[in-house]
Amino acid sequence: MNQYLSKQVADLKPSGIRRFFDLAAQMDDVISLGVGEPDFVTPWSFIEQSFHALEQGYTSYTENAGMIELREEISAYLNRSFGLSYDASDQVIVSVGASQAIDLALRAIVNPGDEVIVVEPSFVAYVPAITLAGGTPVTIQTKAEDDFKVQPEQIEAAITPNTKAIMLCNPNNPTGTFLEKKELEQLGKVIAKHDLLVLSDEIYAELTYDEPYTSFPTISGMKERTILISGFSKAFAMTGWRLGYATGPSEIISAMVKIHQYTMMCAPTMAQHAALEAMKNGRESVQHMLESYKQRRNLIVSSLNEIGLDCPNPGGAFYAFPSIKATGLSSAEFAEQLLQEEHVAVVPGEVFGANGEGYVRCSYATSIKQLDEAMNRIKRFVEKRINPATA
Ligand code: PMP
Repeated sequence: MNQYLSKQVADLKPSGIRRFFDLAAQMDDVISLGVGEPDFVTPWSFIEQSFHALEQGYTSYTENAGMIELREEISAYLNRSFGLSYDASDQVIVSVGASQAIDLALRAIVNPGDEVIVVEPSFVAYVPAITLAGGTPVTIQTKAEDDFKVQPEQIEAAITPNTKAIMLCNPNNPTGTFLEKKELEQLGKVIAKHDLLVLSDEIYAELTYDEPYTSFPTISGMKERTILISGFSKAFAMTGWRLGYATGPSEIISAMVKIHQYTMMCAPTMAQHAALEAMKNGRESVQHMLESYKQRRNLIVSSLNEIGLDCPNPGGAFYAFPSIKATGLSSAEFAEQLLQEEHVAVVPGEVFGANGEGYVRCSYATSIKQLDEAMNRIKRFVEKRINPATA
C-alpha cells in the first residue's frame, strides 16, 4: 500500500520518543523519565466544572475560535500573569492542544519555499510540522557551553532571503533552558532587523523556578510579529483534555480560525469548560505543582551530577538534560541499555537534533520516590561504564 502514501508523509520519521515509550510499556517495573507529561491528575475543580457543563447539556460545538468566555479568560489570565494585552474577539484562538496551534500557525503563514528556523535541541514536532505545512525547516545548533541558549549571531547566520519565521521555545523542551529578558531583547533586535515572524511556544511559561518569566511578545516591537502558543497540558496537568491556544495579530489569528473551522470545527466543548475554571481559579493548583517540580528538579540535578553525568540546572519546564559523554555510549545506546538493564526509560538526545547527541532527556514529572529509585538505578548503570573494575 505504500505507493498510495503522500511523499511528504512517507518521508516523515515516526517520533523517537514514542518508540521508547512503546518499548517501556512492554516491560514490568519500568520507571519512566521518558514522556513529557505531568504525573499529577488534573485538579478536581477543573474536572468538576466539566462535569457541571455536561450535566447542563453543554454538549454541542462552540464557536470555531472557542467559547468567547474562555477567550476572555485567557486574555485576562495573560494580562495578569505576563502583562500581555490581547483582544478576545479576534486575537485569541482555542485549539486542540498547543500541538494544533503550532500546526495552524505554520499553515497560516508558510508558502512553499519559505524557510522557518528551528532552534535545536528542540521539541520533536517542530521540524515535521514545518515540512507538513510545505515549508523548509532550517535548524540552528545551540552549544552546550552557551547552556543551549541561541545566540543572536546564530540566527543572523541562518537567515536567507526565504526566511519567514523562527520558532522559539522558552523554557525549552528538551533542555529546560530558560531565556531571560535581556537575552530575548537581543534576539528581538535580529528578528526586527530581518522582519521575521516568531512562533513563541510558551507552554512551559508557568513552570519556571528561579527567575521571573518574560513573555516574548512583551519585548519591544515583538507583539506585532509574534504568534504566542500555549496551552493547558503542562502547568495545568491537562494533557488528555487536548486544549491549547494561540494569540497574536488579528489577521494571523483569523487565518488560523479559517483553517480550524474546516479541519477541526472547534476544540472539545467539555475541555473548554474545564479550562475556563483553570484560567479563573487555577493559580493555587499550579503553584502547588510548581513547588513540587522544583523539589524534584533540585533532587535530580544534584543526583545526576553526583553520579558523574554533568547536568546544568535547568531554569524551567520539567526536563533535565545531562551529558552522558563520560560513559562513552551514544545517546541511543545509553537509553536502550539503561532500559534493558535497569528498566529506566529516558529519551536519547539525538531525537531532538544533531547537537542533542551526547545527552539524554530525563523528565522529572514523577514522584520523588520514583526519582530516587531511578537515580539509584542510573548510578549502578553508569558506574559499570565509568568504573567497570569497582562496580
Ligand atoms: N510544545 C512543547 C514545547 C511541548 O513540549 C509540547 C508537549 N510535549 C507541546 C507543545 C504540545 O502540547 P499539547 O499537549 O498542548 O499539544
